[in-house]
Amino acid sequence: MDQEMSLLFVGTVSASPTISRNTSCVALRFDDGHLWLFDCGEGTQRELLKYPHINPSLVDVIFITHLHGDHVYGLFGLLCSLSFKRKNQPIDLIGPKGLKELLDCVLPLTDMTISYPINIHELPEDDVSTLTDISNPNQSFHQLGRNDVSVMAFPLSHQIRSFAFHVELRHRSSQVNIQRAHSYGIGFGHFFDALSCGQSVRLPNGVVVLPQDVCDLVTHRLLICGDCGDGYGRGKVHDRTQLESDIQPPLSSLTISPLSAAVPSFVPKSQLNKPKQLPPIPANYPLLSASPVPNTESPPQQTEEYGVGDANDWPRLVSTLEKVDTLVHETTFANELSHLAERWGHSTSKMAGERAVQLNAKTLIITHFSKRYTETPNGLQELFEQTREAAGNIKVLPAYDGFMFPLD
Ligand SMILES: [Zn+2]
Ligand SMILES: [Zn+2]
Repeated sequence: MDQEMSLLFVGTVSASPTISRNTSCVALRFDDGHLWLFDCGEGTQRELLKYPHINPSLVDVIFITHLHGDHVYGLFGLLCSLSFKRKNQPIDLIGPKGLKELLDCVLPLTDMTISYPINIHELPEDDVSTLTDISNPNQSFHQLGRNDVSVMAFPLSHQIRSFAFHVELRHRSSQVNIQRAHSYGIGFGHFFDALSCGQSVRLPNGVVVLPQDVCDLVTHRLLICGDCGDGYGRGKVHDRTQLESDIQPPLSSLTISPLSAAVPSFVPKSQLNKPKQLPPIPANYPLLSASPVPNTESPPQQTEEYGVGDANDWPRLVSTLEKVDTLVHETTFANELSHLAERWGHSTSKMAGERAVQLNAKTLIITHFSKRYTETPNGLQELFEQTREAAGNIKVLPAYDGFMFPLD
């Protein structure tokens, strides 16, 4: 099992960690032990230490789907710790625009010395990007250290720019093709068993047969999605009070500094890329106070668009890929909270199931659960059932921290 290529779900909860679940990270472990990480939530490096078959010093590439904290706060600590374990081996960091600025800011401010090269690749905002092209290695964007993998990035709709990574893995099956074995005069028996175990054999006639001579080349298409909604920005929010009470404690229970009080809870799309100008603090705002402040204002009728991306992001991805073997997709909310999914650019169980159908997926792995479901006995069961209902005959697996999925 340890030698197989596999996905390890390192963190599977959204927003903030719980006792049993950490924030987002999926590790793709190749059969040679090397690792690619997809997102790096807070505490990822400690989580990786829990698994004996995982060697964090073999991380070669870190893909960041988007810059929300639950996907990126673990990056700095991991990069720093790897300084002790890597000599001059570079790491590739691939993610949205802003990734370089983030590191340029945090690394010097925290006096972090990195002993190895970091290659940062920021993805174009709206285009599908081919990151590698194994058919033409000289022209590939980057080889990312392997010639048996190709990677594409697709933009997704979310509060900020988010990406899905399509990874096409080509590897030799561990199963011996009987006909190919027969062509060498090998039937069932000692030689066949040795080849099945990945060993080369020398036949009585002196011919040496390697496992790759008799095992088929297998392609596995894997799609790992960052946080995403359905055309984020189309939804109109009419009941802001309801949304805030669902998502976070009421403002009156918080101690708020003047600076954070001045930052609006919702950032209109039109302001996202503009220089930050903090609006004046409302006169009745609860500054540095934990005492309740009555909310006498009626909730504003919110009609502005938020976030980035539109309803074409997903159809474009589907028309390009058409088919995947394994889809890793967020399922932050159950169907009943579709208004929250729409508001925050996330997906419901139903959406995840339907998307697996659109992509003809063999397996759908759901993750990034709101902790309201992970902290109740039957919470995830509800998500699972709803997803399965929408996914038809597709195998649905709910991820948990430590869940390992073999890619064969
Ligand atoms: Zn998230
Ligand atoms: Zn997010």
